[in-house]
Amino acid sequence: MQTQILGMLTPLMALLFAATFAVFWKVAGMRRHVLGFAFGYLFFAMGFLVTHLLPGDAIYTFHTTQLFYSISSALFVISTCERVGQRAHIPTLVGIYVISALVLALAISLTNDVGPRVILLNIGYGCMFMVNFVTLLIAQRRDWIDIAILFSTALQALDFFLRPSLTVMFEQTIPTEEYRQSLYYSLIGLSLGVKSILGAMVLIGATMVDWTRALRERSEKDPLTALHNRAAFEDVMRTLLPKAHMENTPVSLVVADIDHFKQVNDIWGHQSGDRAIASFGKLINEMIRGCDTAGRVGGEEFCIAVWNCPNEPAERLAERIRQAFAQVSHEGLNCDIRLTASFGVATQVADENYERLFARADEALYEAKSRGRNRVENAERSTSFAVAPTPQKPDQPDLKSVAAR
Ligand code: GH3
Ligand code: MG
Ligand code: MG
Repeated sequence: MQTQILGMLTPLMALLFAATFAVFWKVAGMRRHVLGFAFGYLFFAMGFLVTHLLPGDAIYTFHTTQLFYSISSALFVISTCERVGQRAHIPTLVGIYVISALVLALAISLTNDVGPRVILLNIGYGCMFMVNFVTLLIAQRRDWIDIAILFSTALQALDFFLRPSLTVMFEQTIPTEEYRQSLYYSLIGLSLGVKSILGAMVLIGATMVDWTRALRERSEKDPLTALHNRAAFEDVMRTLLPKAHMENTPVSLVVADIDHFKQVNDIWGHQSGDRAIASFGKLINEMIRGCDTAGRVGGEEFCIAVWNCPNEPAERLAERIRQAFAQVSHEGLNCDIRLTASFGVATQVADENYERLFARADEALYEAKSRGRNRVENAERSTSFAVAPTPQKPDQPDLKSVAAR
């Protein structure tokens, strides 16, 4: 009786872990793999209860246990792989289950000894965790938490391959009727309990890490354009500029502002305006390099920190973006309407800080606005890219008349 009650501890803990992951998935809005962890622990608890409560000498007890443990293992494999953007090969997992179920049936028909059955069963689970280990290795994610998951997966596989054979070698034969009193049965209870706690600690850790990372990213991102928001962009600049000065790396700042944007909202509505802002953000993101940083620093104002880039190439980048944007057609606006943007460029001088650099780039932007818009002005020299013909004059915005055509 005492053993029966103690044996309930592991499935109860597993149910608690299942509930924890389900709450994380639901409340924190986490990705599907967290729900996979919840179901993984649920099936693990069911497998454990089946072994513990159904008649120990019944054939169906072995088959049902194997089914539940295999589903549980497959769910852990699929979910941990999905967490790192990999797809576990499901036909391989199903194949492993089918082969080990057939081999188990054969072993049951040939001998009353439980030893060979448990060895074969566990080799099946071990193979699943080997598939897991290899897929996680291919994913090449090497944060400390990813390494912890890899380590825990390797331990699972090793335990399934080695523990049953070693125990059976020691115990030699386990008649079906004495299975529940065997050393193997006591050891498996202990091993599964410890493994489920260790596994849950690692997976809960990974879920917490993913959650805090997602929260931080969300708080740093502008939802409309997926670029950095103003605060995040300024934070990046406050680290980047001193670093550039120390390393003697040139950094340029491009500031851009869509021309006559108030009219876009007035004529085509705020939603169309939002879409135009989003497409400008997308264009900027597509045209910069991975080492550059872009942010939406105001309503329709954007900044680009161009890393390792002297003044003139940065000016040329701004010019390329200007030309590309002037060709984009916008959903919700008249199809012949093209929006334009003005640009200011400045390059860090000595240990110049962000406020000063931004002020100079912004001054250049102001200059671009006052010289007719749809142009690039460079704070480092007085000349600018001339745009001919200038489609919109500062005092005579023509969006209304074009829209009315
Ligand atoms: P200029 O050429 O001088 O830049 O003229 P402008 O009309 O673009 O003037 P300004 O840059 O001062 O105006 C920005 C306008 O952008 C004001 C506001 O109505 C609009 N705006 C700001 N944030 C958003 C936003 O998130 N969505 C939309 N649709 N409009 C916004
Ligand atoms: Mg504007
Ligand atoms: Mg503006």
